[in-house]
Amino acid sequence: MKFPSKSVMKQYQATLLFGLVASATVLAMRGAGVFQLLELRTLDVMMALRPLEPVDDRVVVVGIGESDLNWLESPMVSDRALAKLLMAIKRQQPRMIGLDFYRSLPIEPGTSELQTVFQTTPNLIGIEKIIADDNDGSQSILPGNPILTAAEQVAASDVVVDDDGRVRRGLLFPAATGPRVLEGLGFRLAVDYLAEAGIDPDPDPTQLKIRDAVFPPIERFTGGYANTNDGGYQVFLNPRQARPNPLVSLQQVLEGDIPDDLMRDRIVLIGSTALSSADVFYSNHSNAKLRDSRITFGIELHAELASYIISSVLDGRPTMWSLSETMEMLLIVALAYYGVILQRSEAQEWKRLAWVGGTSGGGAIASYAALYISGLWLPLVPMLLALWGSSVLVASQRMMQLRSLAEKDGLTQLANRRTFDEALQRTWLKGLRSQQSVSLILCDVDHFKLYNDAYGHQQGDECLRHVAKTIRSVVKRGMDLAARYGGEEFVVLLPNTTAEEALALAEKIRQSIKAAQLPHKASKVSDHVTLSLGVTCLVPSMEVPMSSVVQFADLGLYRAKEAGRDRTNLHLPEMTTGEQ
Ligand code: GH3
Ligand code: MG
Ligand code: MG
Repeated sequence: MKFPSKSVMKQYQATLLFGLVASATVLAMRGAGVFQLLELRTLDVMMALRPLEPVDDRVVVVGIGESDLNWLESPMVSDRALAKLLMAIKRQQPRMIGLDFYRSLPIEPGTSELQTVFQTTPNLIGIEKIIADDNDGSQSILPGNPILTAAEQVAASDVVVDDDGRVRRGLLFPAATGPRVLEGLGFRLAVDYLAEAGIDPDPDPTQLKIRDAVFPPIERFTGGYANTNDGGYQVFLNPRQARPNPLVSLQQVLEGDIPDDLMRDRIVLIGSTALSSADVFYSNHSNAKLRDSRITFGIELHAELASYIISSVLDGRPTMWSLSETMEMLLIVALAYYGVILQRSEAQEWKRLAWVGGTSGGGAIASYAALYISGLWLPLVPMLLALWGSSVLVASQRMMQLRSLAEKDGLTQLANRRTFDEALQRTWLKGLRSQQSVSLILCDVDHFKLYNDAYGHQQGDECLRHVAKTIRSVVKRGMDLAARYGGEEFVVLLPNTTAEEALALAEKIRQSIKAAQLPHKASKVSDHVTLSLGVTCLVPSMEVPMSSVVQFADLGLYRAKEAGRDRTNLHLPEMTTGEQ
């Protein structure tokens, strides 16, 4: 009990270090984007596990697909057809109409009719798009219809796509701005829709808040995103399962094949649902019409954003958010340390494993509950990776410690007898195949019983440690093995070594111990601790048993003792044969 605090300090240091390594690794990999797709997919799965929500019929989509074009017998929707469609929709008195077509150029016939509709429909919002070139900073505009643009009845049609090609975000404002700051189409429609009901956004410049619904902006490292494009003002979508909004076709509307009040006081969005158009994306809700293909049309994404905003404000449906970067990091670090502390505890192995497993399950359930109840996206994947990573780290260190305990002699930290026996067997079998010689040195401390008697057992232990240290410092080749054979006897196994080399090494050990000048007042051969050594060398063959290696070395040792100790004796197999 010399330094009780020292070992305790070491324990703390190890805990600190393991936690640090695990959490730093996970955080660095997360920052580099290694887990981004895994985190996004995990979010997708958790979202998909939520119960089905009813369709939001406050937002209606009118899709113009291939079958509508066939019905119109035209490759494009003419201005007249569009004017007719708008008139038909207007008859149902929708609150807002969104038109996801550019229409900057006339598509005759019927251009003047369409212009009249544009001029007389103040609740119609068209689109335009500003495309910024990231390379040279230049901007180009996909212009909207001049009448709508002049009346400021335009919004941006931009869509943000994640690295895996899926759309999980909605744009309140796109990054690039033209002459005016344009709202995203879905956002503009929702805000105008709510304004009609006397509900306006809070004048908070940092984040969108309408009544109690807060829509925090996505930044470069928000949630599981790693250095993502955070241009403009982007929010998470909170996708409903299955089709979120009613979808009807142009033909259905023009033929009157829809309920009379389908669009009354609603938001109606008109856009392409042609698979041949460029306005096709992948998102997380399955498309009923396209049988789970996850193909989503741009117009549906705008509808979804509008519906998301309206239902969050009016129905209290949760808005999506995530913790601050710092909070997420703290959670990840906490889980890493939890894993370390758990694994370093004295609990049984299966119990520790059960705790890690249970915590993982609990974490997954908590993450799901947080998402379901409040729209919170927790960093589940990196948290679990930190937990398991630190657990594996500590467990493997434990295993290494156990292995070293099993392989080493506790007093001298040399290999133990068992390790030597295994190594000898391996070396012997290898020598049998390759016909390489095997040498062995057996060392014995002279008059060690007397040493113990003179200095006490503890000092004796100290002496053995010193001898072991000396042997270790002399035996340097990687394939050689120095071991404690038992008591005050040590053994050195030397594969592929000649008798001369082994003899030289044995002498070196003897000289080194002598040079150390460890006092031994009771010794009958010297004032200092000395060694007697037996050396042998033989080429393994089927005729001699493996045990003869140790036997011959022991014979050498016996001769060295007999001849007066503090010396080395080489005993070769021929000598035995000669004596017989
Ligand atoms: P010789 O010169 O013939 O080798 O005589 P010796 O006394 O060295 O040999 P002997 O085999 O008679 O005695 C070995 C002694 O080593 C007996 C035992 O008490 C002591 N010994 C064995 N293991 C340990 C140990 O781990 N620690 C200490 N302190 N002594 C040990
Ligand atoms: Mg002995
Ligand atoms: Mg001895």
